[in-house]
Amino acid sequence: MQKLTAAALLALTLPGLGLAATLEENAKTVLEFGPRVTGSPANEQARAYFEQQFKALGYQTRRETFTYPRFDDLGSDVRAGEQTLKGFALQNSGGGELTAAAVRVPGVGTLEDFAAVDVRGKIAVVARGQVTFSQKAAAALSAGATGLIIVNNQAGELRGALGDQTQLPVLGVSQQVGAALKDGQRLILGVRVRRADVQGVNLVAFKAGVTQPEMLFGGHLDSVQGAPGANDNLSGSLAVLELARRAAGTPLSQRSYFTLFDGEEDGLLGSRDFVKANAPIVKQLKAMFNLDMVGIDAEPLTLGGDAALMAAAGRVSKVQLNASAPGGSDHVPFREAGVPALFFHRGLDANYHQPGDILLDEALVRGAVEVALKVADEVLSAAPAQ
Ligand SMILES: [Zn+2]
Repeated sequence: MQKLTAAALLALTLPGLGLAATLEENAKTVLEFGPRVTGSPANEQARAYFEQQFKALGYQTRRETFTYPRFDDLGSDVRAGEQTLKGFALQNSGGGELTAAAVRVPGVGTLEDFAAVDVRGKIAVVARGQVTFSQKAAAALSAGATGLIIVNNQAGELRGALGDQTQLPVLGVSQQVGAALKDGQRLILGVRVRRADVQGVNLVAFKAGVTQPEMLFGGHLDSVQGAPGANDNLSGSLAVLELARRAAGTPLSQRSYFTLFDGEEDGLLGSRDFVKANAPIVKQLKAMFNLDMVGIDAEPLTLGGDAALMAAAGRVSKVQLNASAPGGSDHVPFREAGVPALFFHRGLDANYHQPGDILLDEALVRGAVEVALKVADEVLSAAPAQ
């Protein structure tokens, strides 16, 4: 009783938040926080909100933190005459704002290619391809260039990473931008970057007294810079909360953990940390379900991963099964640790990692939850509680 009162009081301190809001209310509220990049205020706001929602459903929560260095492009471009042309700093690039003439380097920017021109004190412009970004940057630096622009060799923006950190400012640009940069033209190159330690926070919800779950339901709450992350992956986060709501008051809640991972977009860092920090718990899990991008039907709901779990899913639902479950999400560290894991996914929608990722269909989220509950029931009925 006292706990309920405390939760209610806490809920009152957050405007517009009642006890255990609906899925639709949760979606609307969290989306308004904006992109949930790990380490950002919006990321924390979203986690605090979910925390309260889990508590309102009678769960306890705990936070697990981890730290990692991250490179951020704060907005980079090249100015040519009157035009400001957008580009993306390559990860591990140096930063700086410099004015110099452009020199178009022939070929693909090997040492020999750079030997054919004089780039000393200039901004080298070179095509992507054949040799690595790092090799191009090293060649440009040794030839005396003060900046480097790498032009894509295929349609679209060029976003990439240098294998080695360099002091040279390196900007990736599209073919259209590349074509606008004339040999000898005065350019202002602005590569605005930041390298700093970021703290990620995983949120774990569980019923009081549950120390060894058999099931772990998870999804990542973080999103990429510039993308509000409705489908990727507020949809999966809402699904995890909805699973907790449906499980509350049933035996499933006594056998499960519900986890929102951070740092997924920076390399599955939250789930990797969780697996490492909770090794004894992880080892005993019967299954891990990862829900990522389940709010837009780019493809029908597809489950992939562990063969026995897929077989269980096949027995209780008509969902599409994919033995070669795509990697690149939080089930991977669990699979690597030997945990049977299942990936719930509806494909990559058109707004994937774009500013347009502002839509999700709550009915599709609920659909994924229904399937996850059925499969969990099938998996756990084959393994009675101890
Ligand atoms: Zn995702």
